[in-house]
Amino acid sequence: MSPSRPPTASIAAIATPPGRGGIGIVRVSGEHLDELILAIAGRELPPRVATRVLFRDALGAAIDSGLALYFPRPHSYTGEDVVEWHGHGGPAVMRLLLSRCVDLGARLAEPGEFTKRAFLNGKLDLAQAESVADVIEASTATAVRAAARSLTGEFSREVHALRDALIDLRMYTEATLDFPEEDLDLLREGDVAARLAAIRERLANVMTRARSGAILRSGLTLVLVGAPNVGKSSLLNRLVGDEAAIVTPVPGTTRDTVERQIEIGGIPLNVIDTAGLRDTEDPVERLGIARTRAAIERSDVALVIVEASEDSDAARSAAARALLVTELPASVPRIIVHNKCDLAFAAPHVERYPAMLDPSLSAETATEAVATHVWLCALTGDGVPLLEAEVMRIAGVEHAVEDAFFARERQLAALADAGRHLDAAVLLVAGSAPPLELLAEELRGAQQAFSSITGEFTADDLLGEIFSRFCIGK
Ligand code: GDP
Repeated sequence: MSPSRPPTASIAAIATPPGRGGIGIVRVSGEHLDELILAIAGRELPPRVATRVLFRDALGAAIDSGLALYFPRPHSYTGEDVVEWHGHGGPAVMRLLLSRCVDLGARLAEPGEFTKRAFLNGKLDLAQAESVADVIEASTATAVRAAARSLTGEFSREVHALRDALIDLRMYTEATLDFPEEDLDLLREGDVAARLAAIRERLANVMTRARSGAILRSGLTLVLVGAPNVGKSSLLNRLVGDEAAIVTPVPGTTRDTVERQIEIGGIPLNVIDTAGLRDTEDPVERLGIARTRAAIERSDVALVIVEASEDSDAARSAAARALLVTELPASVPRIIVHNKCDLAFAAPHVERYPAMLDPSLSAETATEAVATHVWLCALTGDGVPLLEAEVMRIAGVEHAVEDAFFARERQLAALADAGRHLDAAVLLVAGSAPPLELLAEELRGAQQAFSSITGEFTADDLLGEIFSRFCIGK
């Protein structure tokens, strides 16, 4: 479905990352590329076959020699004519080739503009288009799989199924509106209440998968708190593990000495070691520490590490002291890790107490929370999987990650919006004489929320915002 006609100017961009590499690709998309192709390749190109050509400048001299790939419309990524010039991957060669395309009438592509055209030409829906950027940005293998699930349309299909079920239901309510005297019978006949409940349940499942995906996408922040020598570094090394990848920081984030990116169960984790926090006069370091403190306030889980002791009161007051030192806000969920359990002759295990019995928690968070204590041995790794499972449980991930949808805030908000409309509809239908206009209105609202995810009703400014976050050339 095309909300508006795409612009006609051809666009061009270097599609490979900046710097030197084996090959570099300049990509062009437009409604008619015959002349541009003839001018650069000196010949026509067969569709979808790699053709060896010389890339020529305006005087016919060779800029480079390489491969050309031509995808005539509509069977291309954007739905327009697309040509890719695969040359040698040097910045100067790529720039020459790009400016040659611009001289021949293409303009420089904006970030995400190729994908935006693919969306406008109905090649991808909006949820799929957004997941293109997610596949590129994903920092763990599990995240890539979740993004790919959205890209191939699995998420969109679920959303479409929900929307279609709603449309079916709306046929009943709208028809009943037209024949008010038979309203209750029609509602009953259509089994509206049961179908509504089924849609609500299906939505709940999609939301769980999408929430796991949102965690995969943005990762979790974990804070390590504890006195010197309790085994923070040993635990961090254990968490990183042998086979677990150290995730490279995304461009733009500076790597502080106190922050490390790791991966547990496919989830990117940003680990802040508060041992790196100290008073300093150095303005740059102070800036970093202020940033770290802000990250601590927003962190998902804090690991408070103490030395295991046969005397549990001693361990608890050690935990309370450690917390005091780092000024960890009471709102951050925490796990008390009793490390070196081998020295206390305790086996690795987990204990949960009502938090009100836990002196490491303040009164206001103690009301309904449960304090989790994990006994482990960082030296040998015994009990570390128990800790990992607790971290995932507290973060709300548990086992759902493997079938997650890589969702964005926008999509989560739309799903939640649909959920609110459906909840209201469920309440209305449960009443003895449901006000039909209100019911119809709620169902319409839910349908619109679903449609906004796949982009059937999406304002232009939202599109601009979504695609501006892409990289150039995509
Ligand atoms: P940090 O200062 O908190 O980072 O502590 P380290 O990780 O450097 O550990 C301090 C000391 O405790 C080192 O000698 C570790 O080998 C030792 N250690 C760490 N974890 C354990 C454990 O589970 N059992 C025993 N017996 N020793 C440990």
